[in-house]
Amino acid sequence: MTSVPNLTLNDGHTIPQLGFGVFQVPPADTAKVTLDAFEAGYRHIDTAQMYGNEEGVGKAIRESGLARDDVYITTKLNNGFHRPDDARAAFETSLEKLGLDQVDLFLIHWPLPTQYDGDFVSTWNTLIEFAADGRARSIGVSNFQVDHLARLAAETSVVPAVNQIEVHPYFGNETVRAAGEAAGILTEAWSPIAQGAVLDDPTITAIADKLGRTPSQVTLRWHVQRGDIVFPKTLSPERMRENAAIFDFELGADDVAAITALDKGEGGRRGPNPSTFDWIPS
Ligand code: NDP
Repeated sequence: MTSVPNLTLNDGHTIPQLGFGVFQVPPADTAKVTLDAFEAGYRHIDTAQMYGNEEGVGKAIRESGLARDDVYITTKLNNGFHRPDDARAAFETSLEKLGLDQVDLFLIHWPLPTQYDGDFVSTWNTLIEFAADGRARSIGVSNFQVDHLARLAAETSVVPAVNQIEVHPYFGNETVRAAGEAAGILTEAWSPIAQGAVLDDPTITAIADKLGRTPSQVTLRWHVQRGDIVFPKTLSPERMRENAAIFDFELGADDVAAITALDKGEGGRRGPNPSTFDWIPS
């Protein structure tokens, strides 16, 4: 893998711009798949309590023989644990499952504005505790909309380091990205290849053919040139290597613009709308 750029967060720490996501990686396979990702050169893993596979990620870190400082680990608070005491207990459990004293990045997974009396602010204040005591190197949010970010800015003292949101060529999510940029919050683009849905788009395949690259590489390169962080998921070691080989070519401004123009607005979403999503696992 050609070297992955590190981006600097608003708290001064750095994050590798490319990582590997383990959503929908079966828990029993996660250690092996994560080891394959390390083998392919990935050093940044994105997991979550909701994915049920933090233990597999922890096992892979230990078995990899990599130094702790050489891996970047993100996990996220599950939706049932927004109340401060629950968040504290759930965070401890994540550290235990991962076998770590510290995660590099801890996120609120969903804002759930229609749950918990709309109070994601006390949840955020609890993450601020984890950053203050050093057990989370950086803290951030996921799926926060513009009004949710504005509320954190008005009512708390810490700006999230990142906002992890759905972004891909069919759903540019530009308003939320712009609000993040204005506030110094880096965007992490989830489902960066729209779970495969953009890979046979004629605009993307034409650019890929022209450059001698694959549609996935072209799409991931588009994200990277826009300054976002990506962590595509695949179970295949070959695709892991393919998805990581995106730092030795560049898209022209016209190609970036053509891919950006594929945005279908709200109709392009693959996941739920965070303003109404209210699912709490039983
Ligand atoms: P992706 O956009 O990464 O797409 C994954 C799918 O694309 C899989 O079906 C995979 O299949 C296929 N794929 C991967 N690479 C290639 C390739 N080179 N060619 C063809 N097909 C390919 O979707 P995800 O939803 O997994 O998003 C990535 C990560 O984002 C997640 O793992 C998670 O970490 C994060 N995420 C966060 C969310 C949040 O709410 N914060 C929500 C959703 C995702 P196969 O495995 O068979 O190769």
